[in-house]
Amino acid sequence: MSKRLYIKTYGCQMNVYDSTRMADLLAPLGYRLVTASDEADLVILNTCHIREKAAEKVYSELGRLRVLKTARAETGGRMVVAVGGCVAQAEGAEILRRAPHVDIVFGPQTYHRLPDLVARVLLVPAAVAAKGLLDTEFPAETKFDLLPETASPQGVAAILSVQEGCDKFCSFCVVPYTRGAEYSRPAGDVLREARDLVAAGAREITLLGQNVNAYHGAAAGNKSAREWGLGRLIQALAEIPGLDRLRYTTSHPGDVDDALVAAHRDVPQLMPFLHLPVQSGSDRVLAAMNRKHTADAYRRLIERFRTARADMAFSSDFIVGHPDESEVDFAATLRLVGDIGFAQAFSFKYSPRPGTPAAQASQVAEELKAARLAVLQEMLATQQRRFNDSCRGRILPVLFDRPGRHSGQLIGRSPYLQSVHVEAPDGHLGTLVPVRILAAGQNSVAGTLEMRADAVEASA
Ligand code: SAM
Ligand code: SF4
Repeated sequence: MSKRLYIKTYGCQMNVYDSTRMADLLAPLGYRLVTASDEADLVILNTCHIREKAAEKVYSELGRLRVLKTARAETGGRMVVAVGGCVAQAEGAEILRRAPHVDIVFGPQTYHRLPDLVARVLLVPAAVAAKGLLDTEFPAETKFDLLPETASPQGVAAILSVQEGCDKFCSFCVVPYTRGAEYSRPAGDVLREARDLVAAGAREITLLGQNVNAYHGAAAGNKSAREWGLGRLIQALAEIPGLDRLRYTTSHPGDVDDALVAAHRDVPQLMPFLHLPVQSGSDRVLAAMNRKHTADAYRRLIERFRTARADMAFSSDFIVGHPDESEVDFAATLRLVGDIGFAQAFSFKYSPRPGTPAAQASQVAEELKAARLAVLQEMLATQQRRFNDSCRGRILPVLFDRPGRHSGQLIGRSPYLQSVHVEAPDGHLGTLVPVRILAAGQNSVAGTLEMRADAVEASA
């Protein structure tokens, strides 16, 4: 009999990818995805621990699930509650203590064991008060070897995890502790999964990794050949017929090599848009963050990409109020933003994470962080508007991936990851079509279908 599975995903795209793989793992047990927790037999919260707020949300959702689980039991049914992802890894048994109704706590590196964990929970009758199962070790085996070979179709724009974990240990970041050591999947496995995704309808693939440009996977086909870097992997992926667009995220400035820059010059399928987090424009703060590069090195890197491909646009991440950040440091961040000109960016107040070095250092006052964030966000918003405005009059290839809010409207992505709203027939869903951009807003642009087949002036 089919059982109902609800997965709530928090945080980054890596978690989104992991959630799709959890559903793949549980399908042979008869679980099919549903869209609400109320009706589910198994609820999984796939959590994020990157900032304090993200972790807090999990406990409030668990409170809501306790009510649902009790109500289900009162009618003779059963709801199994599982917590995975980075909060599960970081807090482990603490989750079972604070939320005893949780049946399973598992980490990002043990989710391939979910079918076994769920089966073990179901062996014990619901009426018997059993202690929740905890599986948050970093196993010797890699989960990628144990996941189902065929990934579920993801639609026209798919994500594919190629690298996981991180050895950089930035002062503020929990990822090295929750995701573990850096690991790259063999290139052959990545190519196989990409071919499957394309066969199932994907025309765009975003390669994922916590530090994706540290990728160093075993070479495809020839075991004695040298490992492949990300640039080489992109070249090989671009040869898959029907794969029109490639992206990758998230990169570290310190791991950009010549082959990656060259891929932006040589591979037309690689989109001219790069998310390259810099975090701060102050060398003093960058050193305290253990980022291992300077602000000028970042400026030079951007120039290298722009030389390789003139229409490159950039996005970044910023943290304001890292311990000890002064007004002078913050002014250096604003200067860097002014020098580069970002097409979009994410910015956050520093949030102390237990167990990380920065959490022990002297903290910047909350009001100061908030004031600096407001100034930075205003500047970044102005740059985003300016970039969107600069696209007016251009004809850009747009990959339509979802219906719009009004009937007769579709939404797609430009090469620069802008949402593009267009009046277009449903038949255009899943296709790559030239669009003349006519209007620009803060977070999206709008245009009309361009009928001339030879019209696209940027990359396809
Ligand atoms: N690996 C990427 C890199 O090298 O920058 C980013 C990983 S993290 C999932 C995404 C972003 O969250 C970071 O770039 C950083 O700006 C932000 N972030 C991470 N830890 C944070 C913290 N403790 N407080 C505030 N923001 C944080
Ligand atoms: Fe975290 Fe990224 Fe630094 Fe790794 S490189 S520690 S994932 S911020």
